[in-house]
Amino acid sequence: MIPDVLPDLPLARASVDRAALLRDRQDVLPAALADPRTRVLAVRDGGLLLTGAAAVRWLTPADAARVYAAGGPGPADAAAPPIDRWLLLGVEDDGTRVLALRLHDRHPLSTGGEPADVLVHLPDGPVARDGWGSLRTVGASLDAHDAGLATAAVALDAWHDRHPRCPRCGAPTRVAQAGWSRVCDVDGSEHYPRTDPAVIMAVVDADDRLLLGHAAAWPAGRWSTLAGFVEAGESAEQAVRREVHEETGVVVDEVDYVGSQPWPFPASLMLGFRARATSTAVRVDGVEMADARWFTRDELTAAVASGDVLLPGGASIARALVEQWWGGPFPG
Ligand SMILES: [Zn+2]
Repeated sequence: MIPDVLPDLPLARASVDRAALLRDRQDVLPAALADPRTRVLAVRDGGLLLTGAAAVRWLTPADAARVYAAGGPGPADAAAPPIDRWLLLGVEDDGTRVLALRLHDRHPLSTGGEPADVLVHLPDGPVARDGWGSLRTVGASLDAHDAGLATAAVALDAWHDRHPRCPRCGAPTRVAQAGWSRVCDVDGSEHYPRTDPAVIMAVVDADDRLLLGHAAAWPAGRWSTLAGFVEAGESAEQAVRREVHEETGVVVDEVDYVGSQPWPFPASLMLGFRARATSTAVRVDGVEMADARWFTRDELTAAVASGDVLLPGGASIARALVEQWWGGPFPG
């Protein structure tokens, strides 16, 4: 029997108190920056500063500022990050404030280079270019606490990057509420982080086979559950039926919600469903979707073992949906 809800999803686990009531206080960021107990994660373009491969490298405000300055045009220590580059992520149970620092666009930490290059020496060790990792890649390895905070940081950073101007009048907006909104001083409008709903579904037929697709844009061998964005004026359930039919020609009737996951690349909320197919003939458009097919458990087991099928990464709800149907984690 397949359970009704998904197990813990890597990017959607418990996190700290988001402290929304503190965001309006003018002194909340200056006070946090003046406290050496405050913990900071550095974020840029979907990536994080890491310690080793699988943990966030937490910094003091002073050390985070040195990482920021090390990528700037002036001498290290010279350029303090502007206040609007800091985001309040939350407050721990013991009162410790947690911030993210948004590195600037061309910060060398986030844009590659010689891996051995050390950008700045900190008391707890050097920060090198290869200390950077994508949340998409490392998300499944982070502990629950850090995964939740890193997801919020990456989502906020992506939103600020892509929404510098007022959608009403086009004027530049300024950051407010400790990083959680932007305000247009020309027309007084307030703007909040965007989240775009998308549906992702495990489509199963009467023989309990799973429908997987191979999108034209994916590398060879990559197969995953079907997914797509919810359109304007559409329910999530309608989106499931429409997307499955558009992408594969398969007709779906019953649709059950099983769980959700933020997917901040850059701004999706993945709504996970299990859907029952009432037809099995597959017809792909050959443009967006290159191939789609039904798998029995034995067929998928063999295809994964032989390397013919590469499943989505462990941080994704797609992987969780496949494994929920399959009956447990795939080895390796
Ligand atoms: Zn405006």
